[in-house]
Amino acid sequence: MPNILIQQNIPLAPFTTFHIGGPAKFFAEVSSEKNLSEALDFAREKNLKIFILSGGSNVLISDDGFDGLVIKINDAENRKQSGIKLSGENIECWSGESLASVVKFVAENSLAGLEWAAGIPGTIGGAVRGNAGAFGEEMANVVESVKVCEILKNSKVCGMDYKPVPANSLEICKILTKEACGFSYRNSIFKKNKNLIILSAKLRLEKGDQEKIKNKIKEFLEKRTKSQPKGFSAGSFFQNPVVKNQKLLEQFEKDTGSKAREGKIPAGWLIDESGFRGKKIGGVMISEKHSNFIVNTGNGTAQDVVMLASIIKQKLREEFNVQLKEEVQYVGF
Ligand SMILES: Cc1cc2nc3c(=O)[nH]c(=O)nc-3n(C[C@H](O)[C@H](O)[C@H](O)COP(=O)(O)OP(=O)(O)OC[C@H]3O[C@@H](n4cnc5c(N)ncnc54)[C@H](O)[C@@H]3O)c2cc1C
Repeated sequence: MPNILIQQNIPLAPFTTFHIGGPAKFFAEVSSEKNLSEALDFAREKNLKIFILSGGSNVLISDDGFDGLVIKINDAENRKQSGIKLSGENIECWSGESLASVVKFVAENSLAGLEWAAGIPGTIGGAVRGNAGAFGEEMANVVESVKVCEILKNSKVCGMDYKPVPANSLEICKILTKEACGFSYRNSIFKKNKNLIILSAKLRLEKGDQEKIKNKIKEFLEKRTKSQPKGFSAGSFFQNPVVKNQKLLEQFEKDTGSKAREGKIPAGWLIDESGFRGKKIGGVMISEKHSNFIVNTGNGTAQDVVMLASIIKQKLREEFNVQLKEEVQYVGF
């Protein structure tokens, strides 16, 4: 029997920034590799699908919930000993540490390179997996290596088949170099290989001036407050698409005075052009402040979100021949 608490029929909405989602059939909160190993053993014994939930800031969980074991990775039990370790200009973070606490930690230690991440909700694990980024920077710029647990279980995680079983899943811990993580725009090997659970990450930063670091953090936080809505959301809902239509690129650059980076146009601008700003379906709406934010106005459902997202995708395909791709991870659909 596991030492960790495994609960049943736990509503997932409160564990997400969208505040949407039905119950997990089984639910375990873990804060160490040992806890995680126990949770995986439980799933193996019961032949359950698993889903790793961290900060819940990049997920849309189905109204029916998740019919398996949700493993919620929390921050370390004892932060001083195991959560964030400092070694010269490098830090090693347990995956469940919040990005906010890591940004604060590095600033307090006069380390520069992560200021842009201030205000991004969620954890180190979630940020590495999605190669989170903002203001032209991204996790790939600071990650040196990532410690992972590869599940070799003949079971399923969100529909993905796993390979055959070892006795103890954590026996196949391995360290991936940054190159092996296959980072690209909001993407990594972890998005493709769902049998990899991120345990911790080593980040390489640079010695800097503490006051300058803190001022930069303040600046980035202010920019966020100005451009992003408050309330329940999962951040930018769609990835910024690469647009081939030259006319559209020119129109974007003319209207905004900004250059399209690597042929990408902000999804929010396209959604706005299609007249969706403020559009409501059920209890969700396109934010008036930022058109790539779908906001839950209080009683929104996953079904409302999916409907709104599909209408937007269809309209953008018809109007601009652009195919939007969700940045947010759908769970339990
Ligand atoms: C208001 C707001 C603003 C945001 N701004 C930004 C922004 O500027 N830039 C940006 O990139 N994102 C942004 N986001 C999105 C989100 O915060 C990031 O994607 C964040 O990194 C997700 O981390 P999380 O811990 O919440 O992951 P979760 O939402 O818990 O999980 C997301 C996915 O990652 C997987 N996952 C989580 N932890 C692990 C792990 N340890 N191992 C393997 N897989 C794992 C989950 O299974 C799931 O598929 C924003 C979100 C909100 C609500």
